[in-house]
Amino acid sequence: MTPLLLPSDPPPLFRDLQVEPEEARSILRPQKNDGYGFGFALSPYRGCAHGCRYCYVREYPNALHGPEDWGGWVSPKLNAPELLWSQRHRLHNERVFMASATDPYQPLERDYRLTRRCLEVLLLCPTTRVIIHTRSPLVLQDLDLLRSFGNRLSVGFSIPTDDDTVRQAVELRAPAIPSRWAAMERLARAGIRVTAAVAPLLAVHDARTFARRARASGAQGAWVGSLRLLKRDPFYGLLAEHGWLKVLDPAYADEVRQAFHEVFPPPREVRERPVKAAPPPPPPVRQPGLFDKVG
Ligand code: SF4
Repeated sequence: MTPLLLPSDPPPLFRDLQVEPEEARSILRPQKNDGYGFGFALSPYRGCAHGCRYCYVREYPNALHGPEDWGGWVSPKLNAPELLWSQRHRLHNERVFMASATDPYQPLERDYRLTRRCLEVLLLCPTTRVIIHTRSPLVLQDLDLLRSFGNRLSVGFSIPTDDDTVRQAVELRAPAIPSRWAAMERLARAGIRVTAAVAPLLAVHDARTFARRARASGAQGAWVGSLRLLKRDPFYGLLAEHGWLKVLDPAYADEVRQAFHEVFPPPREVRERPVKAAPPPPPPVRQPGLFDKVG
């Protein structure tokens, strides 16, 4: 397929991006593991221009190029909205996650609007819930559309560090951390449910202040997901070079989780008032916490 030019003037970081539009054969990827909290993943793009250095998708078998080119190419799935429309009967009472293998608001979305058009289809599926996961303030271009979902939609912002110099080393082409906080605040002010995903956990400067910042920015929930490396991952070298190997230590992840737990306590157990002469209640069972998930 002949690579095409970007449709409008890209910012300098994306000038060399290869755009290879395609007609996808499928658009809904079933998620068999209930622990993830959604039934289908939906990626309107293959590849991701953010090119995060740790991204596990870089080694997916359906990648168009090798892991060393990750972030240098993107395939917009031109027929994604039509495919989704044809598959909408599968979405009754389901949760759809956008997206597990790309950022739905990466720079190309400014022109291709595939995420937007998929959302327009999902809006017409009244029992379907939508979880958007992004690193980009570009999500704000769809603010009105997102609002029309009411409580059927939430937006999770991935903010893996409180330190933008860490982001510059690891997610160079993804939007700066302060711009993510600002976008989260605007979404929250517009009445959209937002959550903060500290995932994958990178080096954090001050976990307590970080957690408080998430709360102050309107996050209604937060979770901390540990970093997973690929086999012989070159990202290990980057962590070692910067002195960030602690992010692989489970104790470090627990410490950051604890700080977030203090600011975002898990829901309290609801206990019924004891009835006279009833047998003593069983010992309380610990509910799974918001932060027990692994990203
Ligand atoms: S934004 Fe997400 S999908 Fe894109 S490169 Fe980063 S981690 Fe991977």
